[in-house]
Amino acid sequence: MVLPHLRTAARTPESPGRDGRRDTVWVWETSSFSGRALLFLALLAVLLQSGCAKPPVAKIMETTAYCGCSSCCSWERGSWAMLKLDFWNRYVSAGPNAGRPYSGLTASGTVPYEPEEGLLSVDSIYRPWMIPVRLILFPWYLLPHDGTIAADTKYYPFGTRMYVPGYGQGVVEDRGGAIKGPNRIDLYFDSHSDALAWGRKKVRVTIEYPR
Ligand SMILES: [Zn+2]
Repeated sequence: MVLPHLRTAARTPESPGRDGRRDTVWVWETSSFSGRALLFLALLAVLLQSGCAKPPVAKIMETTAYCGCSSCCSWERGSWAMLKLDFWNRYVSAGPNAGRPYSGLTASGTVPYEPEEGLLSVDSIYRPWMIPVRLILFPWYLLPHDGTIAADTKYYPFGTRMYVPGYGQGVVEDRGGAIKGPNRIDLYFDSHSDALAWGRKKVRVTIEYPR
């Protein structure tokens, strides 16, 4: 029997139970053959799982930053077909899709994010003023969230996770016209001034390929 089951056992003489009562304890009985076999299979499964995970790779990469604004993401308000009167519509302004409606989503169809460390993180110690911001103003900042990274998906398929020092944990969800080759990535920021402040940096990126 492999499942733990209730059994009454006497306390040892060194620590007798109160009033010498016998205490009920949970015992994990693995004396039988099926119990040991199941334990062995469970250990094997854990070993195989850890063996299948690809180890993270570190690489020096040239990083730039972008946001969702019209100049970073090449879009414009209104189309010339509508004499630019439909300023509430956004259209792609450059590249092969110029003139098509602009969705604001990443190339993989997700909403872009800046990395968020969440309430229960070291960030709350370094930036304690973020605690009330997370609790009251922006409750969606309570949970940690990966940032959006644009990369050449020939080398880094969608879902590749990257840790970028100074930026945080991100995941490849987007592509960019100028983001070609294995050494270039573009980091998404919520504000254009933050993206400008990042500029262009060569940093040691830790890459974790999807399974
Ligand atoms: Zn921008």
